[in-house]
Amino acid sequence: MTTAEQQLFINGAFTDGAGSQTAEVISPATGERVGSFPLPVAADLDAAVEAAHRAQRAWAGVNVWDRAAACHRIADEIDKRRDELARLQTLEQGKPLAESVADVTETAQLFRLHAEDAVRLNGETLLSRDNSKKMFTFHRPVGTWAIITPWNFPLLMFAEFAAPGLATGNALIVKPPANTPLTVLKAMEAVAAAGLPEGLVNILPGDGPFGDALVRHPGIHAIGFIGSSATGAKITAAAGLKRSLMECSGNGPLVVLADADLDAAAKAAVDGAYPCAGQVCCATERVVVDASVHDAFVEAVLRESERVRLGDPFDDKTVLGPLNNEGVAAKMDRHMADARERGAEILLGGARRSGMPTDLYYEFTVVDAVPEDSLLSREESFGPVVPIITGRDEDDLLRIANDDALGLQGAVFTSSMKSAFRFMEELEVGQVIVNESNNWWDINMPFGGAGSRGTGWGRIGGKWTLMDMTDTRTGVISL
Ligand code: NAD
Repeated sequence: MTTAEQQLFINGAFTDGAGSQTAEVISPATGERVGSFPLPVAADLDAAVEAAHRAQRAWAGVNVWDRAAACHRIADEIDKRRDELARLQTLEQGKPLAESVADVTETAQLFRLHAEDAVRLNGETLLSRDNSKKMFTFHRPVGTWAIITPWNFPLLMFAEFAAPGLATGNALIVKPPANTPLTVLKAMEAVAAAGLPEGLVNILPGDGPFGDALVRHPGIHAIGFIGSSATGAKITAAAGLKRSLMECSGNGPLVVLADADLDAAAKAAVDGAYPCAGQVCCATERVVVDASVHDAFVEAVLRESERVRLGDPFDDKTVLGPLNNEGVAAKMDRHMADARERGAEILLGGARRSGMPTDLYYEFTVVDAVPEDSLLSREESFGPVVPIITGRDEDDLLRIANDDALGLQGAVFTSSMKSAFRFMEELEVGQVIVNESNNWWDINMPFGGAGSRGTGWGRIGGKWTLMDMTDTRTGVISL
């Protein structure tokens, strides 16, 4: 394996920064060293903020069609590097190579989508109650954003903020997590090749305390965060009145009503549980099934599970790779021990696989009779598991699905239009998917948590992110 030694990216240049320490990135699949990066220090943060401010002032005045053209060029440069970026992402993240290829492809698509949306981000003309006044709105960039990303989609989560942020005239200081920073740093070669002005994008990977310093930096105007709800709460406490767009944890229900197509529902439950080893915010986290169809559904889930092959993420027959880190693996262990203690039935898997190059390979797992008060039900597991909870009837299924502190995305399987609409209105989540896996999304739809729950606010996807990353400015002209 060739290693990837990366540098920080500040003011349009790769640099070792002002610090003296480097950190290593280790492959979850093999335990081997993937590469390294210099750990940034406060002086690097100051330099990045200064460069971002300078660049952003000029960028805000660049015509939106020219900003959009730059985003298209970034997309082209990313496409040219697809295989290289995908391989590096799989090395550091551990997901199957086909998933990394899809992530890089979607990253380029995001830059194109937001370029196309930005040139249509029109304002409105408003009617005044005073005939001597003309009123209208338009959108202005907020300024310099701190972008803090998780390790499950290292490149895509960067692009979810970078594409709309740049297209609308903002600058970014991005902090990827210390265990998966290499792909984003490498992708800066594409950003540089696209001729983006220096200083608009700066990449400073690091740990939580460095993220905290970034959030608190007086030169940061707004925060875009994707990660756990626990970290999200700390960030909002530190951010004060800074603008924020928070995309946090999910514990998504997939509800199977008595009139559902059970084979389709079982396929969706499995399809929602193994990609990225279940480390997806909208993964199958809780399957809530009507008692009258329970046995047939469980049989179908076990049949579907036979195709989930665990192994080396570079083997094209593998669909389930290792978990990314010991923290998620230990959480899966805790959830399984708790399920056993509470009398749940482990029908498949339920443990790490021994004899693999690392201890992070978790068997694909199906658990039945999951009690409502178990950890599997109460918390986001973030592993390759289908936990099955049984309810009495439609009302009971809806109650169980909503009896949760998080509300990101949910799914319902039914053949009734009336039930489909009821769940679309009454499931307390940001997106309700009917007759498809809850692990489904489209970059052109708004994605985010229900306001009443602890999953954050704002929307990722389509024109909604452009609105969240800009201020609506009002102009009034007195004639
Ligand atoms: P995490 O909260 O541990 O870390 C996320 C990022 O925050 C990392 O870069 C981390 O270094 C940084 N961080 C940690 N403490 C910080 C602090 N005090 N101040 C500033 N930054 C800090 O999350 P994770 O384990 O990396 O990611 C998994 C979580 O992300 C899951 O809960 C998942 O559901 C969620 N997620 C949500 C979405 C979404 O769109 N809603 C998408 C992907 C992942």
